[in-house]
Amino acid sequence: MSTTVDSAMPLQVDKLAKNFRQGKVVVEAVHDISLTVNRGEFVAVMGASGSGKSTLLHLMAGLTTPDAGTVHVDGTDLFKLSDSALTEFRRRRIGLIFQAYNLIPALTAEQNILLPLFLESGNQQNAERLETLLDDLGLNARRTHRPDALSGGEQQRVAIGRALIADPAIILADEPTGNLDSVAGQTICRLLRTLCDEQQRTIVMVTHEPAVAVWAERVVVLKDGQTLSEFRTADFRDSHSLAAAYQDIVGAAPAVEAQA
Ligand code: ADP
Ligand code: MG
Repeated sequence: MSTTVDSAMPLQVDKLAKNFRQGKVVVEAVHDISLTVNRGEFVAVMGASGSGKSTLLHLMAGLTTPDAGTVHVDGTDLFKLSDSALTEFRRRRIGLIFQAYNLIPALTAEQNILLPLFLESGNQQNAERLETLLDDLGLNARRTHRPDALSGGEQQRVAIGRALIADPAIILADEPTGNLDSVAGQTICRLLRTLCDEQQRTIVMVTHEPAVAVWAERVVVLKDGQTLSEFRTADFRDSHSLAAAYQDIVGAAPAVEAQA
């Protein structure tokens, strides 16, 4: 039985699978993963390098086509859309944040933020959204700077602005603090947390760092493309106890062998 599709639910992942062929070996990058994320919820996906975190995120964004399973964002089945409809849906409804900020070097901070709205004529509502975002992100004094004149943390805040400008249903972040020092990384985490608390944003964030995952409400642990465990961060006193539990979970898991 498949999950009942609920259009009020921002993200529903059902029995997703994705294999990659590497020479003669088939790697099951994602194997039968199901996950539902509620509005305003902040979920972290953890796991060792190669456990399938990025593949899962790319599937949730419709950037990779699955071998099996479905992804619904706000009730829309991503893989039933045509290529052009999916591109348009992603532009409006899915905010993407990557480890490498992927900003356009020739554009200023505010032009980068406005990029998803490039095809739309400028209107008053978009102009107001930009001002609010620049305030929320603490980027007002940096709005006319180009990426090479911004710190890593500022560049990532611009990327978050770009992810938010079209008011997406979900925000997907792949190791958003991966290129940052721990202070800048914690600033980004606090910002994502505030977006959930104050604006009911829905976020799925991939990370392998317990000090980052602890900002989420729920942690899903992957190993070899499968969900190994799930826990609530509220059950832990701090990131050290979460790190210890995570090590226990990952260390205790039996290895799943790749299919020949
Ligand atoms: P993570 O993000 O957790 O480090 P990935 O999702 O990137 O893991 O990768 C999961 C597995 O799938 C790894 O074994 C990786 O080598 C493999 N993989 C990922 N993308 C590709 C690809 N495009 N082609 C071949 N193998 C891939
Ligand atoms: Mg990855």
